[in-house]
Amino acid sequence: MSPSIEELATTSQLLVVSDFDGTLAGFSADPNDVPINAEAVDALRRLAALPATTVAILSGRHLDGLRSASGFGEDEFLLVGSHGAESSDHPVVLTSAQVTGLAQVEAKFEVLASAAEGMFVEHKPYHRVLHAIRAIAQGHEDDVEKAKRALDEALELSIPGVRLKPGKWIVEASVTEATKGTWIADYKAQNTPTATVFLGDDTTDEDGFRALGPDDLSVKVGDGDTEATWRVADIAGVGTLLAQLADRREAFMDR
Ligand SMILES: [Mg+2]
Repeated sequence: MSPSIEELATTSQLLVVSDFDGTLAGFSADPNDVPINAEAVDALRRLAALPATTVAILSGRHLDGLRSASGFGEDEFLLVGSHGAESSDHPVVLTSAQVTGLAQVEAKFEVLASAAEGMFVEHKPYHRVLHAIRAIAQGHEDDVEKAKRALDEALELSIPGVRLKPGKWIVEASVTEATKGTWIADYKAQNTPTATVFLGDDTTDEDGFRALGPDDLSVKVGDGDTEATWRVADIAGVGTLLAQLADRREAFMDR
């Protein structure tokens, strides 16, 4: 059972956590120019302005990338990057083992990226990401096949201290233990919200869904297997849900 919007809106301390790409913003061949859902962001700004209400944007992007792609400021939302490994409270610190692991996986990913036109390797402080969206969206049939095979091969790499995870048209290599789940669990332990909402669309969001309890709402965006207890069809559905929550919580706080 999940709490109703009314129960969430009237809770004493509300935490709203949202993923960015695929949840608040659509996909694009240029990851720095993605279409942002204005209704959803307006609702998050209204929620963040209310007392006893915190809004965090929890993204797989690195923190600087999240800031520039979203245009969000630290004065409006709590911004958390690299799936929870990076925030203004937690600057990047890498051990030498992590540096080595990243260098090794980067070299392998660069070779795999040369398999198809449009593939590339993204650098983040704790991650390297093999991207195939350009190859799959714009490529010829040949390139699409090669890109899919490269993603499969990336998942089979074995490098000490490096964990590999599939996502939408990507494979991500991580040298940190931080996940969206560890971030949400830590934040909840320290700040004790009475209810938490977390929305996300991708594989790494499942870690976050699993960190939620019976008073919380986990929302999967789009199709696919999930452990979330609620689902909206698409990014537009996120806007509708968040607008409802903002309306009800504003009314509750006004009482
Ligand atoms: Mg996403």
